[in-house]
Amino acid sequence: MEIVKTVKELRQLLPEEADKGQVVGFVPTMGALHRGHLSLVQRCKKECSVAVVSIFVNPTQFNDKSDLKRYPRTLSADTQLLQAAGCDVAFAPDEREIYPELDTRTFDFGLLDKVMEGERRPGHFNGVAQVVSRLLHVVTPQRAYFGEKDFQQLAIVTELVRRLDLPVEVVRCPIVREPDGLAMSSRNALLSPEQRAAAPAIARTLFAAVDKVCSLSLPELKQFVADAIADGGRLKLDYFEVVNALTLQPVASLDDDVPKQACIAVYAGEIRLIDNVRLT
Ligand code: AMP
Repeated sequence: MEIVKTVKELRQLLPEEADKGQVVGFVPTMGALHRGHLSLVQRCKKECSVAVVSIFVNPTQFNDKSDLKRYPRTLSADTQLLQAAGCDVAFAPDEREIYPELDTRTFDFGLLDKVMEGERRPGHFNGVAQVVSRLLHVVTPQRAYFGEKDFQQLAIVTELVRRLDLPVEVVRCPIVREPDGLAMSSRNALLSPEQRAAAPAIARTLFAAVDKVCSLSLPELKQFVADAIADGGRLKLDYFEVVNALTLQPVASLDDDVPKQACIAVYAGEIRLIDNVRLT
């Protein structure tokens, strides 16, 4: 595995490989890698001839500066994990490489970013679009792998690729969970032992919601989730939404005949965790 820090070094490695008709696959990450990330890398390696993984904590997508400051950074452990997962090129640029000058671009995602994460984290998805478009521009992959853990982000990236008409296939990958159901996340490492013990209630509640979807109304389901998250006193519900899985707009009723996704954001102290599950 090659570890490169600059766009120039990256470009020197890539064209040669791509020119031979090889498929370049790309997994963008912010590091502090876990099995969730590695599942994307392994799939990328299986489906492509060259697997490129970026590690870059993108400042423009953090609307909360203390969240950016405490975000875990574990580069040497990350590169070892990537090597073991079959990554060919690890790209770990610093900020000047990605943003040689201030990125003032703004992106229009219609209604996709007006709900859930986009509503609670102003500017977040604009920052995601800035970094993803820049990374896709320098890596020029044919396939790019993203996790359903960040369900709204996947919709945004798919729309970004469509609107910019980028020649890349966005590949959706399922959520990888801890044995107790907690969706794997770099932020899990920041949880206290008590918060970590409480956190599996998030996934448990989502799975219980799946079981109850036929017997409860939407307001009843929302109340059930609010009560289940509050129970135990360590978690605080930010939102629970049932949305159309394609448009991300909240459904009016659980009887709506559209694919439905239940999406949740929960605070454990200062740490914000998100998760989601298909309802029908
Ligand atoms: P991040 O480092 O949090 O920006 O995540 C990089 C990529 O890994 C994103 O496409 C995430 O959706 C994906 N990812 C993060 N956690 C998981 C998980 N538990 N299961 C599957 N994909 C994940």
